[in-house]
Amino acid sequence: MPTQTPIEPRTPPAAPTLPKTARRMTARRRIIAASRRMRELGSIASAVASTSHPYMAHIVPMRRCNLACTYCNEFDDVSNPTPIDEMLRRIDHLGRLGTSVITISGGEPLLHPELDQIIARIRKTGAIAGMITNGYFLMPDRIERLNKAGLDHMQISIDNVMPDDVSKKSLKVLDKKLQMLAEHADFHVNINSVVGGGTANPEDALTISKRALELGFSSTIGIIHDGSGQLKPLGEAERKVWDEVRRLTRRSYSRFNHFQEAIANGQPNDWRCRAGSRYLYVDENGIVSYCSQQRGYPGIPVAEYTTADVKREFLTEKTCAPNCTISCVHQVSYIDHWRAPQTSTTTPGAAGHGEDLVQIH
Ligand code: SF4
Ligand code: SF4
Repeated sequence: MPTQTPIEPRTPPAAPTLPKTARRMTARRRIIAASRRMRELGSIASAVASTSHPYMAHIVPMRRCNLACTYCNEFDDVSNPTPIDEMLRRIDHLGRLGTSVITISGGEPLLHPELDQIIARIRKTGAIAGMITNGYFLMPDRIERLNKAGLDHMQISIDNVMPDDVSKKSLKVLDKKLQMLAEHADFHVNINSVVGGGTANPEDALTISKRALELGFSSTIGIIHDGSGQLKPLGEAERKVWDEVRRLTRRSYSRFNHFQEAIANGQPNDWRCRAGSRYLYVDENGIVSYCSQQRGYPGIPVAEYTTADVKREFLTEKTCAPNCTISCVHQVSYIDHWRAPQTSTTTPGAAGHGEDLVQIH
């Protein structure tokens, strides 16, 4: 994840008073959730059975975003949507590679005019369809269209309770959208909060997670680097919030997050990053990279990505792994933690070698 710029701690603002509109689990929603769970279990079984296909791909339909969070390096405010025919070709190819979960990322995906077609095509490949959004464009009719298209999962990251100069992804602004989701969404919703060096008020994460659970969503918490990009142990107040949120969210969707304990303690992780293999990042130009922070490695167009690439990258050691905080890649790589040590340190087909990867300290 990108690092945040340093900001001065300030007096915590009073949390807004929020209406208690819990999500209704109708019989229909229970059936949809059970069927989704069965597909997820099937995808995990298939990942355990074979290492020659990606488990998750993040695909970017447009880089443009309506916000400008100061810590983010994954957006611009000018780019056009990727043409729909090209998006469908990329998704079909990810399907041919056997990708189990395809998550639409950005920029802001809801700005793409043909997003519903993209979601429906992901489902047509047999993959689980996810989306990461800032939530600003959600309205009841838009949520109903996402239901109809077959969206399985949505994640919204909320950075603070009140908007500030760093981020406008704030509970105060987004709570109305969360209530709409509670009322209308048939898909699973996860609300991610953050704690760490770049956040002004650690206790905001607890307020956000409590609100997510109150509305009937799952909730996760992520740790971000401090403003200088260094991995530091959480401070006392941050640690308290971190422990409390993890206690509250123990039953949430993302359970494979043991790696975060080392990050919370400011220590490196000993793990095998399977990016380029089990996890693919497909940018708005259709180029496959390890992740959003290592663009250009291996740097192959998705249309040309083969099972041989997947197998090679499975065994390629990533020198940036020890201090990596990208949780989705950690979680995906956890499936194969116990097998196949990585023996290759170079990245054939890339602009350079493994040691040229951006290093996180
Ligand atoms: S909303 Fe997301 S994509 Fe947009 S600027 Fe913020 S972090 Fe980046
Ligand atoms: S270890 Fe490196 S390549 Fe793997 S997800 Fe982290 S930053 Fe990306």
